[in-house]
Amino acid sequence: HASNLQGYAPICLGLEDFYIRRLYLRIQDCFGRPICSPPDAWFDVVERVSNDNNKTLKRTTKVSRCLNLGSYNYLGFAASDEYCTPRVIESLKKFSASTCSARVDGGTTSLHTDLEECVANFVGKPAAIVTGMGYVTNSAILPVLIGKGGLIISDSLNHNSIVNGARGAGATIRVFQHNTPSHLEKVLREHIAEGQPRTHRPWKKIIVIVEGIYSMEGELCQLPEIVAICKKYKAYVYLDEAHSIGAVGKTGRGVCELLGVDTADVDIMMGTFTKSFGSCGGYIAGSKELIEYLKYTCPAHLYATSISPPAAQQIISAIQVILGEDGSSRGAQKLACIRENSNFFRSELQKMGFEVLGDNDSPVMPIMLYNPAKIPAFSRECLKQNVAVVTVAFPATPLLLARARICISAAHSREDLNKALEVISRVGDMVGIKYFPAEPQKQ
Ligand code: PMP
Repeated sequence: HASNLQGYAPICLGLEDFYIRRLYLRIQDCFGRPICSPPDAWFDVVERVSNDNNKTLKRTTKVSRCLNLGSYNYLGFAASDEYCTPRVIESLKKFSASTCSARVDGGTTSLHTDLEECVANFVGKPAAIVTGMGYVTNSAILPVLIGKGGLIISDSLNHNSIVNGARGAGATIRVFQHNTPSHLEKVLREHIAEGQPRTHRPWKKIIVIVEGIYSMEGELCQLPEIVAICKKYKAYVYLDEAHSIGAVGKTGRGVCELLGVDTADVDIMMGTFTKSFGSCGGYIAGSKELIEYLKYTCPAHLYATSISPPAAQQIISAIQVILGEDGSSRGAQKLACIRENSNFFRSELQKMGFEVLGDNDSPVMPIMLYNPAKIPAFSRECLKQNVAVVTVAFPATPLLLARARICISAAHSREDLNKALEVISRVGDMVGIKYFPAEPQKQ
């Protein structure tokens, strides 16, 4: 315990926000008693969101309006929308805010069945099941899909909901190097022979789990290569599209559409509605047999209250807008806008000399800070200048790979982005995080 404390102490010096409060609580937990009074956490309260992706924060002493570069509101649906909002209000009147029942106990409204059909069609699979929370979709469904005697091979940077789901499954877990197909193949080869039929190997089932866009890295999955390897070794592919569904691909259908992968080659397609669709909940899409099996076995279906009807209506309406079924071209414009905004912002940051992770077309853009002591300096200076950024550090990233994670939205105007770039550049100079020489400005 003492060595834990010494290990953490130097890092504590530069931090006084969320992370340090968590550290205090952890250390207190180690000692089993309060060690001293922790400083206040720095939780701002959001008072209001708006259509232009600004938000109003209520801080202890003042209320300020700032440009929101932290929300997963990729297509700008997390605000009032001329098509979605009136329909959501109608659904609230008709079905109320909650079904107060699990799906099998009277918690299935026509909205729930419509939503499952709509999601299956949208992602390109025969059937889908929805749950009330994205996190629970991974953590509750994985243990139903695979158990003792099974083998899970998981990307080393997969989301915590996947890690917890995999641990709860009781299967053997192996990890492959983040987004590295050659290492995935190496791990597979260590456990089975190439071409061995599923019935003749020591594993009841093998599932390889990857994400479409990695939420802390902004990288696109090397899906075509991973799918080819899984075919060769007859392993199932589980794809978490929390950050890619709705956000990338010509018609918003995610990484399969963007990277030219046939959805028939992805066995289990998972995603959440909390990002591009401005709602909440999660889904699994797959074969009719798989979804039928999940309906009878998944605890999130049997024991948890079904997704809130207005949330379900929001998703259906957002998908209709994306597909142009509202009779307008707003969906296509949003998709074009998020792509242009993301590519513009990424290349401008790089020109300024920042180290930016991730791939083109990805709206997730981590700016590397490295030293965790730079977290409060960077985020507070940006906020003082009315730009809200999210910073992430240990345990969400390795200790010395702290970063600011920018999320770009179709709701950002070019003026917003230029303002944000100016602020980030100034603060970047102040905090010392421009690790590369800036490109000379064109005359
Ligand atoms: N999967 C991934 C990859 C995520 O990033 C997240 C959360 N951002 C989740 C699942 C959980 O989703 P939700 O926040 O909708 O519960």
